[in-house]
Amino acid sequence: MKLSDRVLQEEDIGKMRRTHYSSEINSDLHDNEAIIMGWVSSIRDHGNMQFVTITDRYGDIQVVAKRKECTEELFNQIQQLKEHASVAIRGKVKSQVKAPNGTEVIPLELRVFSMAKKTAPFMIQSKTSIGIDTRLNLRAVDLRRNFLKSIFRIRNTALKAAREFLSEHGFIEVNTPKMIATATEGGAALFPIFYYDREAFLAQSPQLYKEQLTMAFENVFEIGPIFRAEPSRTNRHLSEAISIDVEQAFVDYNDIMRLLEKMIIFTVDSIKETNKNELEYLNLQLPNLELPFPKYSYSNIVSKLHEAQEHIRWGDDLSPQIIKNLQNNRTDAFYFITDWPTSIKPFYVKTKGEKDEMMCESFDLMYGSLEISSGSTRINRKNDLLKRMKKQGLNVDAFDYHLRVFDYGVPPHAGFGLGLERLLMAITKCDNIRDVTLYPRDIDRLTP
Ligand code: ATP
Ligand code: MN
Repeated sequence: MKLSDRVLQEEDIGKMRRTHYSSEINSDLHDNEAIIMGWVSSIRDHGNMQFVTITDRYGDIQVVAKRKECTEELFNQIQQLKEHASVAIRGKVKSQVKAPNGTEVIPLELRVFSMAKKTAPFMIQSKTSIGIDTRLNLRAVDLRRNFLKSIFRIRNTALKAAREFLSEHGFIEVNTPKMIATATEGGAALFPIFYYDREAFLAQSPQLYKEQLTMAFENVFEIGPIFRAEPSRTNRHLSEAISIDVEQAFVDYNDIMRLLEKMIIFTVDSIKETNKNELEYLNLQLPNLELPFPKYSYSNIVSKLHEAQEHIRWGDDLSPQIIKNLQNNRTDAFYFITDWPTSIKPFYVKTKGEKDEMMCESFDLMYGSLEISSGSTRINRKNDLLKRMKKQGLNVDAFDYHLRVFDYGVPPHAGFGLGLERLLMAITKCDNIRDVTLYPRDIDRLTP
């Protein structure tokens, strides 16, 4: 067998190390050697010339093998490469105006760490998307696509920005139990779990714990999973989502709306600054948001819907479908809907007062017809809380662990829970929440 006919072998990394990321390969390195590592993301065979794109975490680099300039063995090895293989290439950097980033690498050595055994159902370089289920079944491979890498880099910035913003505003980050004894939100169902010899549940939200923590720390936030057994298949519900939960002492919902809108602006601005490449790749232009965000009361929205001949009664929840029917509704703007009917908000939400028990000090932050966040002033007196719990048919005894702290000076407080994935849907203009989630969980999906 001739050396050049040998099939490509997989090798270990050994002592070989990357010298440059794709983003560091530029014409300053002309005629220097470099070792790049990553994945084969496209191959074009021109007979006597092979164009191979290697993609790493920062981008792409073009490798050009010419039959005349390579050993026969190397040329033959490169010919055998398949998209998705994980490789290292040692080669010489050449300035090349025609190459995508003004440079290309002429290979001297190829090392294949792991071959692509199959042809993947999607191409790394392709922007067009195939069926989401096919992609989710191979999610880690799907995530190699620039489209998704861009989204998740933006997600990373959003998380960092939220943490930075809240920390600067005097909030401390906490973590509260995810295995709990009782429901907090009503509505969405709980996931029961075995807890030793008892039944327990996965937490729907950190609500009661974050409220309790205002007693000691005043301002707290938590970024963590919430679990909801959502029965319906929608493009905006996950069974496991990430919530940015905030709670502040000695304020009401108006202060919290001001905090939330500032946090949104800070986050969007951080993304504009940090993720220029990603935004360009996704063809997104983020809006210049202005303070304050518009506020419409629930009653006002209901009247507007009546004007639009929509069938809705005061007290009904506002579905995205019905909100879409609002005239002049901008689909790409943040706004608040405030002062909701007490009956459709959770038991811990404070009403507008003795005279107006029907309405409560609550808000939803919306983006078009998508709910991004819900918040409110909370009840801080035990009697009021007991009254509301009984009215909503809750088993008061089951909440004893919570109610007992109300004998010891719970401060007036307010807060919100914001769905990170919902915010990302708004920012990246993705219609399906699964796209902005690494490993989505829904009624049909528990793997990968
Ligand atoms: P929706 O009416 O959209 O089902 P909700 O009013 O039941 O949401 P809240 O209890 O107000 O949800 O939770 C606070 C925030 O958490 C929501 O505004 C949303 O951004 C996010 N969220 C709630 N449930 C889910 C879910 N199943 N999947 C993704 N995000 C969610
Ligand atoms: Mn809500």
